[in-house]
Amino acid sequence: MTSFSICVLPGDGIGPEVTDCARRVLDALALAGGPSFTYQVQPAGHGTFLADGYAMPESSLAAAKAADAVLLGAMDVAQIPPGGGDPLGDMRKGLEVGASIRPSRAIAGVASPSADIDCVVVREVTEGLYSRIEYMVDDNAACAVRVITREASTKTARLAFETATARQRRLNPAHKKGRVTAVHKIGVLKLTDGLFLEAARTVAADYPDIEFETRNIDACAMEMIREPAHFDVILATNAFGDILSDIGAGLAAGLGLAASGCIGDRWAYFEPVHGTAPDITGKGVANPCATVLSAAMMLRHLGQPDSADAIEGAVEDVLATGVIRTGDLGGNATSAQMTDAIIAALEARL
Ligand code: ATP
Repeated sequence: MTSFSICVLPGDGIGPEVTDCARRVLDALALAGGPSFTYQVQPAGHGTFLADGYAMPESSLAAAKAADAVLLGAMDVAQIPPGGGDPLGDMRKGLEVGASIRPSRAIAGVASPSADIDCVVVREVTEGLYSRIEYMVDDNAACAVRVITREASTKTARLAFETATARQRRLNPAHKKGRVTAVHKIGVLKLTDGLFLEAARTVAADYPDIEFETRNIDACAMEMIREPAHFDVILATNAFGDILSDIGAGLAAGLGLAASGCIGDRWAYFEPVHGTAPDITGKGVANPCATVLSAAMMLRHLGQPDSADAIEGAVEDVLATGVIRTGDLGGNATSAQMTDAIIAALEARL
């Protein structure tokens, strides 16, 4: 039987609560005849900093590298002082992940501003405006350096076209061409976005079945709101992708349902988009769906599309029925009740 080792980094706040729910769903999948899982639960985050003085122990990173995939909860990175560790940065660097994938899709039964949105933002996550190179020019001026490299742009573009190809096969085998929209501000950022677009165009030539187009960041943000159905895969540099993926989450079903993955050539990790939610931590009411859907993305990445479909379908069944839902979705179910309902729906599907 297929078995996977999963490194779990529960992190802070509601992170441990929602990763526990996701593990229960994975275990139910295994019991119903799906792949089986072993878990290595490792410390990381603000709590780890408080306990050990550093937020991302070497041993946690080593366990993440040794596992087949990594599932993260949430980390309170804002509370970690300089020198205390940068767990997400260390993960991205250590696991050599260069791009993130964030799907945004309206889900039946969940109120959302757009019923038409079904897109994925593929975003470079190591450079661009978030290169972390800043300096003071003098007392009254500060600079941030926007690094764009051909290598990182090419890898991210390839992930975007691979994602569009996989979606085309899965979502619309019979009709519509997949589409990649590369986002830029070439009129102002002539060199950096010039290089980014050149890399994207070069990769596009290898994918004649996928339509390629470009959009200015500002026009793209407006069009996502006015005509969300136009978008399939959005390819973006770091800061632009950060903003557009939040627009996507806002247009779709909201933070409690937004999943993500960070993908590299050798390693990958998956996590809910939401943060540590300190206001509801410990109350047992966090919506586990974003983490459960992140686990489904992880299964897809591990070559288990049927299992991923089953979990996604189970979450959709529960949301469509609408009887059991957590507070963020207007209900009063606990995380455990929501997880029980997902497991029951999963068992009904398998
Ligand atoms: P952080 O600093 O870790 O990002 P935050 O509170 O600023 O924390 P989020 O954790 O994303 O940001 O939370 C934003 C709001 O959404 C909060 O009111 C929180 O309770 C709510 N929220 C986030 N995730 C969930 C979830 N899984 N279930 C229910 N509510 C959630």
